This record gives sequence, C-alpha cells and structure tokens, in this order.
Amino acid sequence: MTQPSTQPSTQPSTQANKNYIAGEWLSGVSDIANISPSDLSDVVGHFAQADTAQLDKAVDAAHAAQAEWANYGLERKQAVLNAIGNEMMARAEELGTLLSREEGKPLAEGKGEVYRAGQFFTYYAAEVLRQLGQNAQSVRAGVDIDIRREPVGTVAIISPWNFPTATASWKIAPALAYGNAVIWKPANATPASAHALTEIIAKQDIPKGLFNLVMGSGRDIGQKLVEHTGINAISFTGSVPVGRGIAQAAVGNFTKLQMEMGSKNALAVMDDADLDLAVAAALGGSFGGTGQKCTASSRLVVHEAIHDTFVERLIKGAEAMQVGHALEAGTQIGPVVSETQMSENLAWIEKGRAEGAELACGGVQVERPTQGYYMTPGVFLNTTNQMQINREELFAPLTAVIKVGSYGEALHTVNDTRFGLTAGIMTRSLARANHFRANARSGCVMVNLATAGTDYHVPFGGRGESSYGPREQGSNAAEFYTTVKTAYIAAGDPE
Ligand code: NDP
Repeated sequence: MTQPSTQPSTQPSTQANKNYIAGEWLSGVSDIANISPSDLSDVVGHFAQADTAQLDKAVDAAHAAQAEWANYGLERKQAVLNAIGNEMMARAEELGTLLSREEGKPLAEGKGEVYRAGQFFTYYAAEVLRQLGQNAQSVRAGVDIDIRREPVGTVAIISPWNFPTATASWKIAPALAYGNAVIWKPANATPASAHALTEIIAKQDIPKGLFNLVMGSGRDIGQKLVEHTGINAISFTGSVPVGRGIAQAAVGNFTKLQMEMGSKNALAVMDDADLDLAVAAALGGSFGGTGQKCTASSRLVVHEAIHDTFVERLIKGAEAMQVGHALEAGTQIGPVVSETQMSENLAWIEKGRAEGAELACGGVQVERPTQGYYMTPGVFLNTTNQMQINREELFAPLTAVIKVGSYGEALHTVNDTRFGLTAGIMTRSLARANHFRANARSGCVMVNLATAGTDYHVPFGGRGESSYGPREQGSNAAEFYTTVKTAYIAAGDPE
C-alpha cells in the first residue's frame, strides 16, 4: 500500500471539481485526486487547488457580500439556512455514502453525520430570529444605552477530514446566521463532501461572494488564509501543532480566533459500574469513527476490583468488531484515513510496546478484498498514565487500559493530561457521578455514556490544549461570530 489518499497533479484538469469563489465555479492552478481509503482503486474525483490570487478574490468578494447579507431581512436569512439544512437531511443517504466513501467511516456513521450537519443549519435558522440585545440605563441623566451584537465580518473556516461535513456545518451555519461572510478551506483528504455542501449553499438566495470554497493544501492556501489581513475571524479544528501556528498568525493580525484541537479523553470505569454498559461505552467510544475522533476514549481508567472481568469482555468485544470497506454492510470499523495515518498508528504500536505496554489484541494492519488502510482495533494493557501512548493523541483504533485502586485515583488520572475535551465515568453511585461532574477538568463530562457523542444545541469545546477561544455550537456560538456594540443615546428634549 503505497499510494497516498490524495495525489497532486500539476496539470489542472477541466474535469476537476471546482472551487466556488465570488459566486463563480473556478478551476484551480492544479488538482488533486481524491482516493477512497477503503479501496485505493476507487478515485472519488479530482478537485481544484486554489492559488493566492483566487484567495484574494474570495476575500474581496466576501467583504462586499457580507455588507449586503447583513442587511437581508431576518426571514430571508432564515429561509436560506432552513433550505440548506432541509436539503442535507433529505439527501443524508446520498451525501452520507459519498462521505463514507472518501473518509472511510461506516455508512451508518456517514449518513448520521450528514443528517446532523443539516440539523446545525436548521438550528441556526431558528437562532436568526433569537438575536436579542440588551439595554441599560446610563449613569448620566437623559442617556440610554443599548448593547447589540453585530457580525464580526469575514470568517475563515478551516475544517478537518474526520467529520468533514459536521465540523464545517457547525461553523458555517452560525457564521451565516449571525450575518458573516465565509471563506472555507476544507481538509484536502475530504474535498468531495466539501464540494457537495458548497453546491447546496451556492443554490441559495445569497449575495455573490458571501460563501467561498477555497480548496488547497493547508500548508499553502490554508497558511495564506490565516495570514490574510482581510480575515476578521478564524475558526479551526485540527491538530495542536497546526493550531499553534494559526494562533501565531492570528495574533500577528489581531484576528479573532477559535480553535478545537486534540485530546486524550479518559473513560473511568468504577467497581460499581454496569459492566455491560461500560464495555459498550468503551468499545463505541474507543473505536467509533476508527478511533479518529477528538472525543475518542483513548484512555480507559479501570478500577482494580473489576479490571480483569472488564478487560476480558472488552477484548472479546474488540475482537468481534468487523473491520472492512466503509460501504459494506456489517462493517463496524472502516479503514484509517490515509497511508500517513496508518504509518503513525503502526509506529504507536511499537512505541507502546517499547514503553512496556502489552498489546492484548488487534493493532494489526490487515488485508481485505479491496486494497485499503485496514487496521484491527487494538487494546493496550498494563499501561501507566505517564507512557507516551497515554499522553499523546493517537487518532487511531487503539485504546489503553490504566488500572487504578480507587475513585480518587481514577479522577486524578483522568485529569492528569494537558488536554481536556471530554471525560467520562461509568458508575451507579450518584455521589461519584456528581463529584466527577464537578471535578473533571474538561469541557464536556459524560456520566454512564461514551466520551464521544454530543448534541448540536449546546456548547462544545474543551480546556487546556484541546480548545482555544469561545465555545462552539448552541447559542454560545454568538460570542465568536459576533462583536458587541454599546450605543449611548441622548434623546434630547422632545420640544
Ligand atoms: P491538521 O491540523 O494538519 O489539518 C486540519 C486542517 O488544517 C486541514 O484542513 C488542513 O489542511 C489544515 N491545515 C494544515 N496546515 C495548515 C496551516 N499551516 N495553516 C492553515 N491550515 C492548515 O490535521 P491532520 O489532518 O494532518 O491530522 C493530524 C492529526 O491532527 C491527527 O492525527 C489528529 O491527532 C489531529 N486532528 C484532530 C482533529 C480534531 O477533531 N480535533 C481533526 C483532525 C486531526 P490539509 O487538509 O491540506 O492538511
């Protein structure tokens, strides 16, 4: 298996799927081939790569369009968002199939993601009508104060491949709902889902240039986008090192910034847990999306009293999971996304062993009828929280069990990380559940649930190196996508 999942070409093809810039579909300066990780002979399509001149054109057009969009009536804006969301939900089967084909997640997950992405648009359609201001009395006689939120301007959205449609949608929908223009640079590993969503948005009653799709590599066009002085705010989801670089670029221009990055989420399994539920939560949380989720349960912190029973059932469950082509019926774990990711995963197996962890099952590259990046789900045992496999985000179908002697030790271990996106506990004790909810140092806490799996109408984000800036999703999104204006009004004498 030597091919990458995207292959660059210096000869742009007229057949390639185009970028959407300033209200026009434009060919790029080069193309990439998008290849399914389930089947390296399956070319999903060719996709244009933008250059700097096209990026500049998009930013200029966005500025002009944003002013127009901000003055659209509320119901007109709401209708646009509803139409996008409703079409995505209606086409979840078709678009979910495309997503699974290019990204590798099992079909049910692909369809579910597209449906959920549609819900972000319909949720924010409703938020269009819920933008209420505040008012206050001035300390000066005869002066009134009103406090309103205004659009922040032109927003750069940089999204990852692991949730190519949902992550982008939970950024694009509020950006538009709160009156902004968008320049979207999706991940180059999943351009087909980005192109499909853009086709839906481009059909709507929006000013030309309000929404721009600028495909290209992160290092090239992504970097230029975040350094662009015409960008007013950047919303990014991806890795910590790239996030660090984006933060530096943003600070240089005083650009508003929001980022969601890696994590090292832990699920604590207590001695009083319902073990069937705990095993199901651990399997789903660790291996759903092939473990390529920022909310994945990559550390299982297990009480010694039930450790052996839990581990026995966990391994049995992992070994029973079906690894295969994303579109094949019965597949529970699809391929990993790319050859690079596969090499990294295999390197982590070696690092884990070298650190003294025992690989109890899986973690092996396997063949299937089609050539793809298949790996069996792996469970490390006898690990400590100081091992690198328990400190770094692996983004792989791999999880590690850490044995602890008490609830207190479990909580300490869960919190002993530089990340802090989600944390979970499996327990029947109300006292432990409440204490954990109050003391887990993470943005999201799960009680008797997997660490992965969040709703769309409430805030999402983490602490430490997991997130930076205001929370995403729910009505909290207003904090990032708007800026506050405080107006002082001295009405004067009516006579
Ligand atoms: P990256 O952080 O490299 O990519 C995320 C997005 O950022 C992509 O659209 C990418 O473009 C873009 N990008 C890359 N470099 C720059 C740059 N210099 N300036 C602006 N944009 C840039 O993540 P990877 O896809 O390489 O995955 C690597 C690791 O990151 C994973 O193994 C995982 O640990 C973590 N990750 C975490 C995610 C999360 O949900 N929190 C999501 C994805 C990854 P391009 O597609 O061209 O690379």
